[in-house]
Amino acid sequence: MTRVAGFQQLRVPCCGQVYIKPNYLSMNFMASEHWTDGLRTASLMPNETGLRRCQCGQFLLMHDTEFLGLVESAENLTHLPCPKAHELDEYLTASPKAALEIAARTELWWHHNHPYRQSYRDHRNAEEQASRQAWEAAQPDQRTWWDKFRGKAAPQYQRPSNAPFTIPPFEPTSEQLSNMTKLCVLLEQEASEFASSKALMLAELYREQSLWQQAQDWLDKVSPEEQQHQPFGLMQKMLHRQTAAPMRYRA
Ligand SMILES: [Zn+2]
Repeated sequence: MTRVAGFQQLRVPCCGQVYIKPNYLSMNFMASEHWTDGLRTASLMPNETGLRRCQCGQFLLMHDTEFLGLVESAENLTHLPCPKAHELDEYLTASPKAALEIAARTELWWHHNHPYRQSYRDHRNAEEQASRQAWEAAQPDQRTWWDKFRGKAAPQYQRPSNAPFTIPPFEPTSEQLSNMTKLCVLLEQEASEFASSKALMLAELYREQSLWQQAQDWLDKVSPEEQQHQPFGLMQKMLHRQTAAPMRYRA
């Protein structure tokens, strides 16, 4: 469960304005959807890179703010706004610092994948529904009046293990590819302070560009602990099949 007690007051470095953010006591990372590109949807925790845009127009990262103390009420104080997708494009033309550019390009990557996510959901829903209808047609409810009176249960749908699982084709645009290429260069320049999660991110970026060897090289750098969890196994499987699409999974 995510629990919040009051708000943290934060001062931004650009113009000194004071904002607030919820003071989380405990965090819940449950999400209704997880995607291999790192996006979580409908999570109780914000899914983000920490990129914000101050009301003065400057972009900044949450960890660059100065913590001033806790307050109980949010009265007269505002949250630091998250930049909109169209602002990211504009911002990136101004050659921001590496940490800010990584955050902005990561958010843009997720944003570019949104239309594909929707076609994936629609496609999966339609295919699952067809599997269910085929199962129901093969297993009609043949209970008699007497069976129902005695409370005999109707046949319960169980997804057949051989039910088809297909996804729509993933065809990134030149704009998407260009952003992914630049994000890879930036992340690889940060190699000295490399964390396993960045190796996973690079593996995914290369896979989505159909650059299989680079994807495998980065996947091999993921720590043994992280290899035990999703999405590592799924990414490895998709890589073997030379499938570039972002995939949805259960954590
Ligand atoms: Zn400012």
